[in-house]
This record gives sequence, C-alpha cells and structure tokens, in this order.
Amino acid sequence: MEQVTDRIWTETKVRGCNPSFVLTSRGPVMIDTPQLPSKAVEWRDLVEGHGPIQYLINTEHHVDHIFGNYWFKGRTTIVHHQGVHERFMTVFPELDPFAYAMEAIPTDDPSGGALVPERSAYYAAMGTADIVFNGDVTLKVGDRTFNLLWTPGHTPGQIAVYVPEERTVFTGDTIFSECTTWLMTSDVDQWIAALDRIRALDIEHVVPGHGPVQPVSYLARQRAFLLEWKSAVAAAVADGLSREETIARVNFASRYPVDIGQEYMMEYIQERNAGALYDKFTAPTSTTYPAKEPPKA
Ligand SMILES: [Zn+2]
Repeated sequence: MEQVTDRIWTETKVRGCNPSFVLTSRGPVMIDTPQLPSKAVEWRDLVEGHGPIQYLINTEHHVDHIFGNYWFKGRTTIVHHQGVHERFMTVFPELDPFAYAMEAIPTDDPSGGALVPERSAYYAAMGTADIVFNGDVTLKVGDRTFNLLWTPGHTPGQIAVYVPEERTVFTGDTIFSECTTWLMTSDVDQWIAALDRIRALDIEHVVPGHGPVQPVSYLARQRAFLLEWKSAVAAAVADGLSREETIARVNFASRYPVDIGQEYMMEYIQERNAGALYDKFTAPTSTTYPAKEPPKA
C-alpha cells in the first residue's frame, strides 16, 4: 500500500482496481474495493483499524471496482451513482461479472476461493448501494469533503471523487495510468469531456483506476491516447477498410502493457477497442448514449 498524502492511501500493485481510503476526523472513507477476496478482507480489517468505515464509494460498475463490496456489506454506508446502481453485477452479453471475477482466483488468489459463496448467496449480499444519487453529490465527513462528480464516458455512471483539502482526485478508469485503456463499452467523446472537467479542479494528485498515482499532467496523456485511438480508427474507416481490416491495422499493444494479472487480455482489448470504434463510426445513426440530465429536485 502506498501513502499519497497524510490522509490518503491506495494500492496500485495488486490485480484489480486501485482501492483507496481517506482518513477523516470521523473515520475512514473507502473508494472502490479490492477485487480479490483475500485482499478485500485484508483491506477491510486494515481500514477498520482506523475506525468504522463511514462510507464506501464506488467510481464505476466494472467488476474490478465492485466485486469486493460483498465483504463490506452491512459494515458501512455504500454510495453509488444511479448509473453504477443500475449496472451493479449485471450480466451483460459481453461479460458475466461473477464468472469474470472467479477467473482470477486460481492464479491470483487461490486461498481466496474459500471466501466466496456460491453465486446466489453472493448476489443476495453483494454490496449494492444504501444511497443512490444522480448528477453530483457532496459528502462532508468530519474534517474532509468528498465531491462526487459525475464524469461519464468510460462508463455511464462513472464518477470522480474529489477531496479538495488533499488536492486529490480519484478518477476510477477515467485514467488508466501507464497501462492500456479499455474503451470498448465507453463513449470516448464524453470521456474526453470528463477529463476536461477534472482538469479544472485544484489538484496535485490523480489516483487512477489502474496503475501508479500521477500528477495532473497525466490527464493530457490520457486524452492524447483516446484521441489517437479515435483518429486511427477514423482514418481506417475513411480508407474504406472493413471491420476486420480495421482491427488488423489499428493496434496499440506496443504502447502500454495491460494492468497487473491480465496480460493475457491484450489482444482481446485491442480487437474490441478497434471494433467498438469502427461500429460507432459506421453506424447509420449516432450510438452515443444520452447523457441524461439529473432529475430536477
Ligand atoms: Zn477498472
């Protein structure tokens, strides 16, 4: 585990997302949970050593950020954006989150297998939200402030957690730091707007969804990579390439490695990133998902 400021710790070197916590005068607040069951239990015990966990906030619905919630259920107040709540552990045609999480156990957490109940028991207590919000919300917890900012793009319910007293933002997978970007189920234009919104904050530390903590300058690096993907696929479409030819031409595997433990996914990510952008750029109508306005109070 790495200390980012006097009050912030994160883990960037274990398979799954970067789970983090902020220590307030009232107790710790968790941001995302470890995907691996034994790490989730280890983290829970360690963070509770600083006092009862005041809130657990998830930055997105992807399984690597939420699977560990099961081990926190009933011990804290779980807070989700509506977009996370709607998709929480939902089985989509492209991914069964429970099966995907279990795939990591034999290689990365063999002793953790015994901690996972069978599927229906897991789904009965998986750590869904106690509080669901739309748009943005601010939590005042003791002497620290948590601005939960809706920053859709990587996922529809994506949020950034901005703690102004620490000049730190937790971006979830709006930032893939020095590891390859998964954009196949994303809206890249919204994602770029999200980066602009985060850039406007007063920040020193960017805690990404994956990879090492970065200074604010890394936001530009992430934007450049998203634009490179878009531009390369747009050029392939303009050149009249088929979907298969586009996938064969546009491949950024040499740029960044895949995050820890998922090296075997490299070609899967490259193919689906290119294929998703190809489908978007050749669709008869826009496939951008609507950025719904939060309901008026
Ligand atoms: Zn992730």
